[in-house]
Amino acid sequence: MITIKNYINGELIEAVSKKHLDNYEPATGKVYGLIPDSDSQDVQLAVDAAKKAFAAWSNTGLEERMMLLMKVADGIEKRMDEFVAAESRDNGKTLKLARAVDIPRAVSNFKFYASALQHFASESHQMPGMGVNYTLRQPIGVVGCISPWNLPLYLFSWKIAPALATGNCVVAKPSEVTPYTAYLLSEVCIEAGLPKGVLNIVHGLGGKAGQAIIEHPEIKAISFTGGTETGKKIAATAAPMFKKLSLELGGKNPTIVFADCDFDETVKQTVTASLSNQGEICLCGSRVFVEKSIYEKFKEAFVARVKTLKTGDPQDEKSMMGAIVSKQHKEKILSYIELAQQEGGKILCGGKELKIEGRCAEGYFIEPTVIEGLDYKCRTQQEEIFGPVVTLTPFESEEEVLTMANSVKYGLASSIWTTDLSRAHRVAEKIEAGIVWINCWLLRDLRTPFGGVKASGVGREGGWEAMRFFTEAKNVCIKI
Ligand code: NAD
Repeated sequence: MITIKNYINGELIEAVSKKHLDNYEPATGKVYGLIPDSDSQDVQLAVDAAKKAFAAWSNTGLEERMMLLMKVADGIEKRMDEFVAAESRDNGKTLKLARAVDIPRAVSNFKFYASALQHFASESHQMPGMGVNYTLRQPIGVVGCISPWNLPLYLFSWKIAPALATGNCVVAKPSEVTPYTAYLLSEVCIEAGLPKGVLNIVHGLGGKAGQAIIEHPEIKAISFTGGTETGKKIAATAAPMFKKLSLELGGKNPTIVFADCDFDETVKQTVTASLSNQGEICLCGSRVFVEKSIYEKFKEAFVARVKTLKTGDPQDEKSMMGAIVSKQHKEKILSYIELAQQEGGKILCGGKELKIEGRCAEGYFIEPTVIEGLDYKCRTQQEEIFGPVVTLTPFESEEEVLTMANSVKYGLASSIWTTDLSRAHRVAEKIEAGIVWINCWLLRDLRTPFGGVKASGVGREGGWEAMRFFTEAKNVCIKI
Protein backbone atom coordinates (compact mmCIF):
# COMPACT_ATOMS: atom_id res chain seq x y z
CA MET A 1 0.00 0.00 0.00
CA ILE A 2 1.29 3.43 -0.93
CA THR A 3 0.41 6.07 1.64
CA ILE A 4 0.35 9.54 0.20
CA LYS A 5 0.84 12.59 2.41
CA ASN A 6 0.10 16.28 2.19
CA TYR A 7 3.02 18.60 1.43
CA ILE A 8 2.65 21.58 3.75
CA ASN A 9 5.33 24.01 4.89
CA GLY A 10 8.00 21.89 3.24
CA GLU A 11 7.02 18.71 5.06
CA LEU A 12 5.12 15.55 4.21
CA ILE A 13 2.36 15.19 6.78
CA GLU A 14 -0.91 13.36 7.37
CA ALA A 15 -4.29 15.10 7.35
CA VAL A 16 -5.09 16.74 10.69
CA SER A 17 -8.12 14.42 11.01
CA LYS A 18 -5.83 11.39 10.32
CA LYS A 19 -8.53 10.18 7.93
CA HIS A 20 -7.74 8.54 4.59
CA LEU A 21 -9.41 7.84 1.28
CA ASP A 22 -8.79 4.74 -0.83
CA ASN A 23 -6.80 5.10 -4.03
CA TYR A 24 -7.76 2.64 -6.80
CA GLU A 25 -5.75 1.24 -9.68
CA PRO A 26 -8.24 1.40 -12.59
CA ALA A 27 -6.56 -1.42 -14.51
CA THR A 28 -7.15 -3.90 -11.67
CA GLY A 29 -10.08 -2.32 -9.83
CA LYS A 30 -8.13 -2.78 -6.58
CA VAL A 31 -7.21 -0.33 -3.85
CA TYR A 32 -3.45 0.14 -3.82
CA GLY A 33 -2.97 3.20 -1.71
CA LEU A 34 -4.33 5.71 0.75
CA ILE A 35 -4.54 9.46 0.40
CA PRO A 36 -5.19 12.09 3.06
CA ASP A 37 -8.88 13.00 3.41
CA SER A 38 -8.02 16.64 4.03
CA ASP A 39 -10.44 19.35 5.13
CA SER A 40 -10.45 23.05 5.97
CA GLN A 41 -7.97 22.51 8.84
CA ASP A 42 -5.33 21.24 6.39
CA VAL A 43 -6.08 24.04 3.95
CA GLN A 44 -5.62 26.52 6.82
CA LEU A 45 -2.19 25.06 7.61
CA ALA A 46 -1.27 25.35 3.93
CA VAL A 47 -2.47 28.97 3.73
CA ASP A 48 -0.54 29.86 6.91
CA ALA A 49 2.63 28.35 5.42
CA ALA A 50 2.11 30.06 2.06
CA LYS A 51 1.50 33.45 3.69
CA LYS A 52 4.67 33.12 5.73
CA ALA A 53 6.70 32.20 2.65
CA PHE A 54 5.31 34.92 0.40
CA ALA A 55 7.44 37.93 1.43
CA ALA A 56 10.70 36.09 0.77
CA TRP A 57 9.56 34.22 -2.35
CA SER A 58 8.08 37.27 -4.07
CA ASN A 59 11.38 39.08 -3.49
CA THR A 60 13.61 36.22 -4.59
CA GLY A 61 15.80 37.24 -7.52
CA LEU A 62 14.59 36.11 -10.94
CA GLU A 63 17.66 34.01 -11.56
CA GLU A 64 17.33 32.16 -8.26
CA ARG A 65 13.64 31.53 -8.88
CA MET A 66 14.44 30.30 -12.37
CA MET A 67 17.14 27.93 -11.03
CA LEU A 68 14.76 26.44 -8.47
CA LEU A 69 12.07 25.75 -11.06
CA MET A 70 14.71 24.20 -13.33
CA LYS A 71 15.79 21.97 -10.45
CA VAL A 72 12.19 20.79 -10.05
CA ALA A 73 12.08 20.00 -13.78
CA ASP A 74 15.39 18.13 -13.53
CA GLY A 75 14.17 16.25 -10.46
CA ILE A 76 11.15 14.93 -12.38
CA GLU A 77 13.30 14.08 -15.37
CA LYS A 78 15.76 12.11 -13.21
CA ARG A 79 12.90 10.01 -11.83
CA MET A 80 11.16 9.73 -15.23
CA ASP A 81 10.47 5.96 -15.06
CA GLU A 82 9.02 6.22 -11.58
CA PHE A 83 6.74 9.12 -12.58
CA VAL A 84 5.65 7.32 -15.77
CA ALA A 85 4.78 4.14 -13.85
CA ALA A 86 2.92 6.12 -11.19
CA GLU A 87 0.83 8.07 -13.71
CA SER A 88 -0.10 4.93 -15.60
CA ARG A 89 -1.01 3.02 -12.45
CA ASP A 90 -3.07 5.85 -10.98
CA ASN A 91 -4.98 6.87 -14.12
CA GLY A 92 -5.14 3.71 -16.23
CA LYS A 93 -3.41 5.37 -19.19
CA THR A 94 -0.82 3.32 -21.02
CA LEU A 95 2.80 3.48 -19.94
CA LYS A 96 3.54 4.42 -23.53
CA LEU A 97 1.36 7.54 -23.39
CA ALA A 98 2.58 8.62 -19.96
CA ARG A 99 6.17 8.27 -21.24
CA ALA A 100 5.53 10.07 -24.53
CA VAL A 101 3.20 12.83 -23.34
CA ASP A 102 2.30 13.31 -19.68
CA ILE A 103 5.58 13.34 -17.82
CA PRO A 104 7.80 14.97 -20.49
CA ARG A 105 5.18 17.69 -20.77
CA ALA A 106 5.20 18.27 -16.99
CA VAL A 107 8.99 18.69 -17.22
CA SER A 108 8.51 21.14 -20.12
CA ASN A 109 5.95 23.15 -18.13
CA PHE A 110 8.47 23.81 -15.36
CA LYS A 111 11.27 24.56 -17.84
CA PHE A 112 9.06 26.80 -19.95
CA TYR A 113 7.94 29.00 -17.03
CA ALA A 114 11.42 28.98 -15.47
CA SER A 115 12.63 30.57 -18.67
CA ALA A 116 9.53 32.77 -19.15
CA LEU A 117 9.98 34.50 -15.81
CA GLN A 118 13.29 35.90 -17.00
CA HIS A 119 11.69 37.45 -20.08
CA PHE A 120 8.37 38.63 -18.70
CA ALA A 121 8.14 42.43 -18.81
CA SER A 122 5.51 45.08 -18.29
CA GLU A 123 4.43 48.09 -20.34
CA SER A 124 5.13 51.81 -20.08
CA HIS A 125 2.98 54.56 -21.59
CA GLN A 126 4.40 57.94 -22.32
CA MET A 127 2.30 61.17 -22.32
CA PRO A 128 4.42 63.63 -24.35
CA GLY A 129 5.40 66.68 -22.31
CA MET A 130 3.17 65.63 -19.41
CA GLY A 131 4.23 62.42 -17.81
CA VAL A 132 4.95 58.75 -18.02
CA ASN A 133 3.15 55.68 -16.78
CA TYR A 134 4.71 52.36 -16.02
CA THR A 135 2.89 49.18 -15.08
CA LEU A 136 4.01 46.96 -12.27
CA ARG A 137 3.02 43.31 -12.56
CA GLN A 138 3.01 42.12 -8.99
CA PRO A 139 2.35 38.62 -7.66
CA ILE A 140 -1.10 38.21 -6.18
CA GLY A 141 -0.11 36.48 -2.94
CA VAL A 142 -1.51 33.05 -2.06
CA VAL A 143 -3.25 31.41 -5.01
CA GLY A 144 -5.19 28.15 -5.39
CA CYS A 145 -4.62 25.61 -8.19
CA ILE A 146 -7.07 22.73 -8.65
CA SER A 147 -6.69 20.11 -11.37
CA PRO A 148 -8.53 17.06 -12.79
CA TRP A 149 -7.61 13.38 -13.24
CA ASN A 150 -7.21 13.03 -17.00
CA LEU A 151 -3.71 14.49 -17.44
CA PRO A 152 -2.75 14.57 -13.78
CA LEU A 153 0.80 15.95 -13.53
CA TYR A 154 0.65 17.64 -16.93
CA LEU A 155 -2.26 19.90 -15.91
CA PHE A 156 -1.18 20.28 -12.28
CA SER A 157 2.23 21.62 -13.36
CA TRP A 158 0.64 23.78 -16.10
CA LYS A 159 -0.86 25.87 -13.27
CA ILE A 160 1.73 25.59 -10.53
CA ALA A 161 4.72 26.52 -12.70
CA PRO A 162 3.44 29.97 -13.85
CA ALA A 163 1.99 30.69 -10.38
CA LEU A 164 5.41 30.11 -8.77
CA ALA A 165 7.31 31.77 -11.61
CA THR A 166 5.45 35.04 -11.01
CA GLY A 167 6.30 35.02 -7.30
CA ASN A 168 3.08 33.66 -5.78
CA CYS A 169 2.83 31.01 -3.10
CA VAL A 170 0.51 28.17 -3.94
CA VAL A 171 -2.04 25.93 -2.27
CA ALA A 172 -2.74 23.20 -4.81
CA LYS A 173 -5.03 20.20 -4.92
CA PRO A 174 -4.72 17.42 -7.48
CA SER A 175 -7.68 15.19 -8.25
CA GLU A 176 -8.40 12.69 -5.48
CA VAL A 177 -8.73 10.10 -8.27
CA THR A 178 -5.09 10.53 -9.41
CA PRO A 179 -2.97 11.94 -6.56
CA TYR A 180 0.20 9.86 -6.97
CA THR A 181 2.41 11.99 -9.23
CA ALA A 182 1.51 15.16 -7.29
CA TYR A 183 2.87 13.34 -4.23
CA LEU A 184 6.07 12.44 -6.08
CA LEU A 185 6.29 16.10 -7.13
CA SER A 186 6.30 17.12 -3.46
CA GLU A 187 9.27 14.80 -2.89
CA VAL A 188 11.04 16.40 -5.85
CA CYS A 189 10.36 19.92 -4.50
CA ILE A 190 11.91 18.97 -1.16
CA GLU A 191 14.97 17.49 -2.93
CA ALA A 192 15.23 20.60 -5.13
CA GLY A 193 15.33 22.88 -2.08
CA LEU A 194 12.15 24.82 -2.86
CA PRO A 195 11.72 27.06 0.22
CA LYS A 196 9.17 25.88 2.78
CA GLY A 197 5.58 26.99 2.19
CA VAL A 198 6.13 28.24 -1.38
CA LEU A 199 4.19 25.27 -2.75
CA ASN A 200 1.72 23.36 -0.61
CA ILE A 201 -0.15 20.30 -1.90
CA VAL A 202 -3.32 19.32 -0.09
CA HIS A 203 -4.94 16.01 -1.08
CA GLY A 204 -8.58 15.12 -0.70
CA LEU A 205 -12.11 15.41 -2.00
CA GLY A 206 -13.31 18.26 -4.19
CA GLY A 207 -16.36 19.07 -2.09
CA LYS A 208 -14.25 19.18 1.09
CA ALA A 209 -10.57 20.08 0.56
CA GLY A 210 -11.26 21.74 -2.82
CA GLN A 211 -14.20 23.73 -1.54
CA ALA A 212 -12.11 24.88 1.47
CA ILE A 213 -9.52 26.29 -0.97
CA ILE A 214 -12.18 28.11 -2.99
CA GLU A 215 -13.82 29.56 0.14
CA HIS A 216 -10.65 30.63 1.91
CA PRO A 217 -10.65 34.44 2.11
CA GLU A 218 -6.86 34.68 1.94
CA ILE A 219 -6.57 32.72 -1.29
CA LYS A 220 -6.87 35.54 -3.79
CA ALA A 221 -7.00 33.75 -7.13
CA ILE A 222 -8.19 30.36 -8.32
CA SER A 223 -6.95 28.52 -11.37
CA PHE A 224 -9.25 25.56 -11.94
CA THR A 225 -9.42 22.83 -14.58
CA GLY A 226 -12.23 20.31 -14.46
CA GLY A 227 -15.89 19.78 -15.30
CA THR A 228 -18.31 22.55 -16.27
CA GLU A 229 -20.70 21.78 -13.38
CA THR A 230 -17.84 22.05 -10.86
CA GLY A 231 -16.73 25.26 -12.57
CA LYS A 232 -20.21 26.71 -11.99
CA LYS A 233 -20.06 25.90 -8.27
CA ILE A 234 -16.59 27.39 -7.99
CA ALA A 235 -17.65 30.58 -9.77
CA ALA A 236 -20.71 30.87 -7.50
CA THR A 237 -18.47 30.80 -4.41
CA ALA A 238 -15.48 32.77 -5.70
CA ALA A 239 -17.17 35.52 -7.74
CA PRO A 240 -18.90 37.26 -4.77
CA MET A 241 -15.51 37.17 -3.00
CA PHE A 242 -14.03 39.01 -6.03
CA LYS A 243 -11.33 36.40 -6.54
CA LYS A 244 -9.47 36.29 -9.80
CA LEU A 245 -10.72 33.20 -11.64
CA SER A 246 -9.42 31.08 -14.49
CA LEU A 247 -11.77 28.24 -15.43
CA GLU A 248 -10.79 25.54 -17.94
CA LEU A 249 -13.85 23.36 -18.30
CA GLY A 250 -15.45 20.63 -20.42
CA GLY A 251 -15.71 20.23 -24.18
CA LYS A 252 -17.55 18.47 -26.99
CA ASN A 253 -15.14 19.21 -29.76
CA PRO A 254 -15.92 18.99 -33.48
CA THR A 255 -13.60 17.42 -36.04
CA ILE A 256 -14.54 18.64 -39.53
CA VAL A 257 -13.39 16.54 -42.47
CA PHE A 258 -13.78 17.99 -45.99
CA ALA A 259 -13.73 15.85 -49.13
CA ASP A 260 -10.48 17.48 -50.29
CA CYS A 261 -8.51 16.41 -47.20
CA ASP A 262 -5.34 14.33 -47.37
CA PHE A 263 -7.42 11.17 -46.86
CA ASP A 264 -5.02 8.64 -45.34
CA GLU A 265 -3.35 11.14 -43.03
CA THR A 266 -6.74 12.50 -41.96
CA VAL A 267 -8.08 9.06 -41.06
CA LYS A 268 -4.94 8.31 -39.06
CA GLN A 269 -4.89 11.62 -37.20
CA THR A 270 -8.62 11.89 -36.53
CA VAL A 271 -8.70 8.44 -34.92
CA THR A 272 -5.93 9.62 -32.59
CA ALA A 273 -7.76 12.90 -32.00
CA SER A 274 -10.93 11.01 -31.07
CA LEU A 275 -9.56 8.29 -28.84
CA SER A 276 -6.21 9.25 -27.30
CA ASN A 277 -6.04 8.51 -23.60
CA GLN A 278 -9.30 6.49 -23.96
CA GLY A 279 -10.98 9.70 -25.17
CA GLU A 280 -10.28 11.22 -21.76
CA ILE A 281 -8.64 14.41 -23.02
CA CYS A 282 -10.68 17.60 -22.89
CA LEU A 283 -9.42 18.36 -26.43
CA CYS A 284 -10.45 15.05 -28.01
CA GLY A 285 -12.63 15.42 -31.10
CA SER A 286 -15.66 13.41 -30.04
CA ARG A 287 -17.94 14.58 -32.90
CA VAL A 288 -16.56 13.84 -36.35
CA PHE A 289 -18.38 15.57 -39.23
CA VAL A 290 -17.53 14.24 -42.68
CA GLU A 291 -18.45 15.75 -46.08
CA LYS A 292 -21.12 13.56 -47.63
CA SER A 293 -19.24 12.71 -50.84
CA ILE A 294 -16.54 10.83 -48.89
CA TYR A 295 -18.64 9.77 -45.89
CA GLU A 296 -18.92 6.04 -46.68
CA LYS A 297 -15.25 5.70 -47.68
CA PHE A 298 -14.12 7.64 -44.62
CA LYS A 299 -16.38 5.68 -42.28
CA GLU A 300 -15.00 2.37 -43.52
CA ALA A 301 -11.37 3.46 -43.14
CA PHE A 302 -11.99 5.13 -39.76
CA VAL A 303 -13.74 2.08 -38.29
CA ALA A 304 -11.08 -0.27 -39.71
CA ARG A 305 -8.37 1.77 -37.98
CA VAL A 306 -10.26 1.95 -34.68
CA LYS A 307 -10.54 -1.85 -34.75
CA THR A 308 -6.73 -2.10 -34.78
CA LEU A 309 -6.43 -0.20 -31.47
CA LYS A 310 -5.52 -2.81 -28.90
CA THR A 311 -7.08 -2.14 -25.51
CA GLY A 312 -5.30 -3.88 -22.67
CA ASP A 313 -3.22 -3.74 -19.51
CA PRO A 314 -1.72 -0.22 -19.44
CA GLN A 315 1.58 -1.75 -18.33
CA ASP A 316 1.75 -3.88 -21.48
CA GLU A 317 3.88 -2.03 -24.03
CA LYS A 318 1.65 -3.42 -26.80
CA SER A 319 -1.51 -1.80 -25.41
CA MET A 320 -2.68 1.25 -27.33
CA MET A 321 -5.64 2.02 -25.07
CA GLY A 322 -5.71 1.48 -21.32
CA ALA A 323 -8.30 1.49 -18.55
CA ILE A 324 -11.07 4.00 -17.85
CA VAL A 325 -10.13 6.09 -14.81
CA SER A 326 -12.80 4.82 -12.38
CA LYS A 327 -15.73 2.47 -12.01
CA GLN A 328 -18.10 5.41 -11.74
CA HIS A 329 -16.76 6.99 -14.92
CA LYS A 330 -16.90 3.64 -16.75
CA GLU A 331 -20.58 3.40 -15.83
CA LYS A 332 -21.26 6.92 -17.02
CA ILE A 333 -19.67 6.16 -20.42
CA LEU A 334 -21.61 2.89 -20.78
CA SER A 335 -24.85 4.73 -19.99
CA TYR A 336 -24.12 7.15 -22.88
CA ILE A 337 -23.55 4.21 -25.25
CA GLU A 338 -26.94 2.89 -24.16
CA LEU A 339 -28.50 6.34 -24.64
CA ALA A 340 -26.99 6.65 -28.11
CA GLN A 341 -28.81 3.47 -29.15
CA GLN A 342 -32.08 4.71 -27.67
CA GLU A 343 -31.59 7.91 -29.67
CA GLY A 344 -31.34 5.89 -32.88
CA GLY A 345 -27.57 5.55 -33.15
CA LYS A 346 -25.98 2.57 -34.86
CA ILE A 347 -22.84 1.15 -33.27
CA LEU A 348 -20.24 0.61 -35.98
CA CYS A 349 -17.66 -0.92 -33.65
CA GLY A 350 -17.14 -1.41 -29.92
CA GLY A 351 -20.05 -0.49 -27.68
CA LYS A 352 -19.33 -2.83 -24.80
CA GLU A 353 -17.36 -3.23 -21.62
CA LEU A 354 -14.21 -5.23 -22.20
CA LYS A 355 -13.09 -8.07 -19.93
CA ILE A 356 -9.36 -8.66 -19.83
CA GLU A 357 -7.85 -11.89 -18.53
CA GLY A 358 -5.36 -12.10 -15.66
CA ARG A 359 -4.15 -9.15 -13.61
CA CYS A 360 -6.77 -6.84 -15.12
CA ALA A 361 -9.82 -9.12 -14.76
CA GLU A 362 -11.54 -6.63 -12.42
CA GLY A 363 -10.32 -3.52 -14.25
CA TYR A 364 -12.42 -0.87 -16.01
CA PHE A 365 -12.16 -1.23 -19.78
CA ILE A 366 -14.46 -0.18 -22.62
CA GLU A 367 -14.07 -1.03 -26.30
CA PRO A 368 -13.34 1.99 -28.51
CA THR A 369 -16.77 2.82 -29.87
CA VAL A 370 -17.88 4.50 -33.11
CA ILE A 371 -21.52 5.48 -33.59
CA GLU A 372 -23.39 6.90 -36.61
CA GLY A 373 -26.93 7.87 -37.45
CA LEU A 374 -27.50 10.39 -34.67
CA ASP A 375 -29.13 13.78 -35.01
CA TYR A 376 -26.62 16.49 -34.12
CA LYS A 377 -29.04 17.89 -31.55
CA CYS A 378 -29.47 14.67 -29.54
CA ARG A 379 -27.94 14.32 -26.07
CA THR A 380 -25.20 11.93 -27.22
CA GLN A 381 -23.99 14.61 -29.62
CA GLN A 382 -24.48 17.53 -27.21
CA GLU A 383 -23.18 16.28 -23.84
CA GLU A 384 -19.60 15.57 -22.84
CA ILE A 385 -19.01 11.81 -22.53
CA PHE A 386 -15.23 11.98 -21.96
CA GLY A 387 -14.55 8.40 -22.97
CA PRO A 388 -13.68 6.20 -25.98
CA VAL A 389 -16.89 7.10 -27.80
CA VAL A 390 -17.02 9.03 -31.07
CA THR A 391 -19.90 9.90 -33.39
CA LEU A 392 -19.73 10.19 -37.19
CA THR A 393 -22.13 12.55 -38.97
CA PRO A 394 -22.26 13.51 -42.68
CA PHE A 395 -22.66 17.11 -43.89
CA GLU A 396 -23.25 18.76 -47.25
CA SER A 397 -22.04 22.35 -46.94
CA GLU A 398 -19.75 24.58 -44.91
CA GLU A 399 -22.77 26.41 -43.59
CA GLU A 400 -24.42 23.21 -42.43
CA VAL A 401 -21.32 21.86 -40.69
CA LEU A 402 -20.74 25.16 -38.90
CA THR A 403 -24.33 25.06 -37.59
CA MET A 404 -23.78 21.53 -36.30
CA ALA A 405 -20.30 22.22 -34.91
CA ASN A 406 -21.44 25.35 -33.06
CA SER A 407 -24.71 23.85 -31.77
CA VAL A 408 -23.25 22.65 -28.45
CA LYS A 409 -22.96 24.68 -25.24
CA TYR A 410 -19.20 24.05 -25.22
CA GLY A 411 -16.44 25.77 -27.19
CA LEU A 412 -13.03 24.40 -26.28
CA ALA A 413 -11.19 22.94 -29.28
CA SER A 414 -11.82 21.93 -32.90
CA SER A 415 -9.98 20.58 -35.90
CA ILE A 416 -10.45 21.14 -39.64
CA TRP A 417 -9.14 18.76 -42.31
CA THR A 418 -8.84 20.19 -45.83
CA THR A 419 -6.21 21.06 -48.43
CA ASP A 420 -8.09 24.27 -49.34
CA LEU A 421 -6.33 26.90 -47.24
CA SER A 422 -8.92 29.63 -47.87
CA ARG A 423 -11.66 27.36 -46.65
CA ALA A 424 -9.60 26.40 -43.60
CA HIS A 425 -9.19 30.07 -42.62
CA ARG A 426 -12.85 30.84 -43.33
CA VAL A 427 -14.14 27.98 -41.19
CA ALA A 428 -11.58 28.63 -38.44
CA GLU A 429 -12.87 32.19 -38.09
CA LYS A 430 -16.45 31.03 -37.66
CA ILE A 431 -15.96 28.15 -35.27
CA GLU A 432 -16.96 28.90 -31.70
CA ALA A 433 -13.90 27.51 -29.92
CA GLY A 434 -10.80 28.78 -28.17
CA ILE A 435 -8.54 26.49 -30.21
CA VAL A 436 -8.64 25.50 -33.89
CA TRP A 437 -6.22 22.98 -35.36
CA ILE A 438 -5.91 22.80 -39.13
CA ASN A 439 -4.70 19.46 -40.49
CA CYS A 440 -3.35 18.53 -37.07
CA TRP A 441 -4.45 17.89 -33.52
CA LEU A 442 -2.77 18.60 -30.20
CA LEU A 443 0.20 20.28 -31.84
CA ARG A 444 1.08 22.48 -28.88
CA ASP A 445 3.25 25.57 -28.59
CA LEU A 446 3.31 26.52 -24.91
CA ARG A 447 3.42 30.24 -25.77
CA THR A 448 -0.07 30.25 -27.31
CA PRO A 449 -3.30 31.15 -25.48
CA PHE A 450 -5.07 28.03 -24.24
CA GLY A 451 -8.70 27.88 -23.17
CA GLY A 452 -12.31 27.80 -24.24
CA VAL A 453 -15.40 29.89 -24.87
CA LYS A 454 -19.04 29.40 -23.81
CA ALA A 455 -19.40 26.62 -21.19
CA SER A 456 -15.78 25.55 -21.78
CA GLY A 457 -14.46 28.24 -19.53
CA VAL A 458 -13.32 31.72 -18.72
CA GLY A 459 -9.82 33.05 -19.24
CA ARG A 460 -6.73 31.66 -20.95
CA GLU A 461 -3.71 29.74 -19.80
CA GLY A 462 -0.35 29.40 -21.56
CA GLY A 463 2.53 31.76 -22.32
CA TRP A 464 2.11 35.35 -21.14
CA GLU A 465 -1.62 34.74 -20.55
CA ALA A 466 -0.82 32.67 -17.46
CA MET A 467 1.89 35.12 -16.32
CA ARG A 468 -0.68 37.93 -16.56
CA PHE A 469 -3.35 35.90 -14.77
CA PHE A 470 -1.05 35.24 -11.82
CA THR A 471 -0.06 38.91 -11.47
CA GLU A 472 -1.93 42.13 -10.68
CA ALA A 473 -1.27 45.10 -12.93
CA LYS A 474 -0.63 48.35 -11.09
CA ASN A 475 -0.18 51.55 -13.05
CA VAL A 476 2.22 54.15 -11.68
CA CYS A 477 1.83 57.65 -13.20
CA ILE A 478 4.62 60.24 -12.90
CA LYS A 479 4.12 63.90 -13.85
CA ILE A 480 7.07 65.43 -15.63
P1 NAD B 1 -14.12 17.59 -11.68
O1 NAD B 1 -14.72 18.91 -11.94
O2 NAD B 1 -14.97 16.54 -11.05
O3 NAD B 1 -12.86 17.73 -10.69
C1 NAD B 1 -11.76 18.55 -11.01
C2 NAD B 1 -11.07 18.96 -9.72
O4 NAD B 1 -11.95 19.78 -8.97
C3 NAD B 1 -10.71 17.80 -8.81
O5 NAD B 1 -9.48 18.06 -8.18
C4 NAD B 1 -11.83 17.80 -7.79
O6 NAD B 1 -11.48 17.24 -6.56
C5 NAD B 1 -12.08 19.30 -7.66
N1 NAD B 1 -13.41 19.68 -7.16
C6 NAD B 1 -14.59 19.02 -7.31
N2 NAD B 1 -15.58 19.71 -6.69
C7 NAD B 1 -15.01 20.83 -6.18
C8 NAD B 1 -15.51 21.94 -5.43
N3 NAD B 1 -16.80 22.05 -5.10
N4 NAD B 1 -14.65 22.91 -5.09
C9 NAD B 1 -13.36 22.83 -5.43
N5 NAD B 1 -12.82 21.80 -6.10
C10 NAD B 1 -13.64 20.81 -6.48
O7 NAD B 1 -13.49 17.11 -13.04
P2 NAD B 1 -12.80 15.72 -13.36
O8 NAD B 1 -13.86 14.67 -13.45
O9 NAD B 1 -11.65 15.52 -12.45
O10 NAD B 1 -12.19 16.01 -14.81
C11 NAD B 1 -12.88 15.85 -16.00
C12 NAD B 1 -13.38 17.17 -16.53
O11 NAD B 1 -12.31 18.08 -16.67
C13 NAD B 1 -13.99 17.05 -17.91
O12 NAD B 1 -15.17 17.81 -17.96
C14 NAD B 1 -12.93 17.66 -18.83
O13 NAD B 1 -13.41 18.18 -20.04
C15 NAD B 1 -12.38 18.71 -17.95
N6 NAD B 1 -11.06 19.12 -18.41
C16 NAD B 1 -10.92 20.34 -18.99
C17 NAD B 1 -9.68 20.76 -19.47
C18 NAD B 1 -9.47 22.10 -20.11
O14 NAD B 1 -8.33 22.48 -20.31
N7 NAD B 1 -10.50 22.84 -20.45
C19 NAD B 1 -8.58 19.90 -19.34
C20 NAD B 1 -8.77 18.66 -18.75
C21 NAD B 1 -10.02 18.28 -18.28
